[in-house]
Amino acid sequence: MPTYTFKCKNCGEVYTIFTFYSKIGEAKCPKCNSKEKERVYKKVPFTVQGGTSSSSCGGNCGGCSGCS
Ligand SMILES: [Zn+2]
Repeated sequence: MPTYTFKCKNCGEVYTIFTFYSKIGEAKCPKCNSKEKERVYKKVPFTVQGGTSSSSCGGNCGGCSGCS
């Protein structure tokens, strides 16, 4: 069963659930039970050994040095 990580739009809690894609809409925040959430895509940090590249994602992950 795949895992999905979400960030609650209500309280900001980030949580991971084990579910099927078709059941994502039923997933609730464990903290406040809100179904309002956005998908969080966890990515393995991309490190360029000895490189000087500041962007590893094209500017859309919001988490790497190229996005901050
Ligand atoms: Zn919440």
